[in-house]
Amino acid sequence: MYLIGIDLGGTEIKGGLFKEDGEVLAKQRIKTPVSEGFEGVCQAIYRLVQLLVNAGGIEEKNIKAVGVGIPGVCDGEGMVYSAVNLYWTNVPFGKRLRAITGLEIFVENDATMGAIGESAVGSMKGVKNSVLITLGTGVGGGIIIDHLPYSGSHGLGSELGHMIVGENYYDCNCGSNGCLETFASATALVNYTKKLLQEGQHESILCTKCQEDLDKLEAKDVFDAAKEGDQLAQKAVQRLVKYLAIGVANINNILDPDVIALGGGLSKAGDYLLNLLNNEVEKYIFFKSEKMKCRLAIAELMNDAGIIGAAMLAEKRIQISS
Ligand SMILES: [Zn+2]
Repeated sequence: MYLIGIDLGGTEIKGGLFKEDGEVLAKQRIKTPVSEGFEGVCQAIYRLVQLLVNAGGIEEKNIKAVGVGIPGVCDGEGMVYSAVNLYWTNVPFGKRLRAITGLEIFVENDATMGAIGESAVGSMKGVKNSVLITLGTGVGGGIIIDHLPYSGSHGLGSELGHMIVGENYYDCNCGSNGCLETFASATALVNYTKKLLQEGQHESILCTKCQEDLDKLEAKDVFDAAKEGDQLAQKAVQRLVKYLAIGVANINNILDPDVIALGGGLSKAGDYLLNLLNNEVEKYIFFKSEKMKCRLAIAELMNDAGIIGAAMLAEKRIQISS
């Protein structure tokens, strides 16, 4: 029997066909037909399932279950309350997909799927409790408790990016102020660096780059400049690290997990980011103990975390229900 993991994004739908132990047999991706609405996207997912079946040379009846990660808020039955990038509000996604495909369908938030993937075969493998924080355009997260994903009583939990960690000079997209996302995302780092450059109080190697076009500045440029010793870039990175550390310490003080892993584009800064963060987190940890310390790590699966996690969630849910 086989599992399928789907990562439904606002621009493309990625899918993987897996053996029950997580070994990948085929991967496919298609564009998300957002303009075709809810029904169009559901039909596209079924086409992707068929593409995977063909690519893997298997029969559809041998698919045990399909897991789908969605960019939004949903409940355990696959009712999607909100998916902003898809323009969905209150759609019976899981139910419709079950009807179209005739397959077992399990739906979860995409960041949670990433955490399940890391927990099954990546940086959080082999531990009971762990948390994945994804640092990309926004900040997302997934929580694993007792080897299972945790998203709260209404599917609204694990919104790590909207944890309030301070007061910021601009509001979050969610309408609140001080969300982790507005301090620790790639967008936040670039915005703050631009602000420093515009204020013009510091010399910076980034000035040369930005004289051409300020909009070309990327988070990677800021990290690279910081590593080279550029003071303005270091100031921006330090600010990100400070608030990320507050977020990490809050998670640690509440959940006491074995591992907290960093994923998403910013995690490519690797050990440089990890070392800065380790030092800063120390300051905010309530119970300081070398022996009982949560380990900080960089996520390992990168782009495939979502599809692997979705397949592994389907496997877990089948195990629980049988
Ligand atoms: Zn927010």
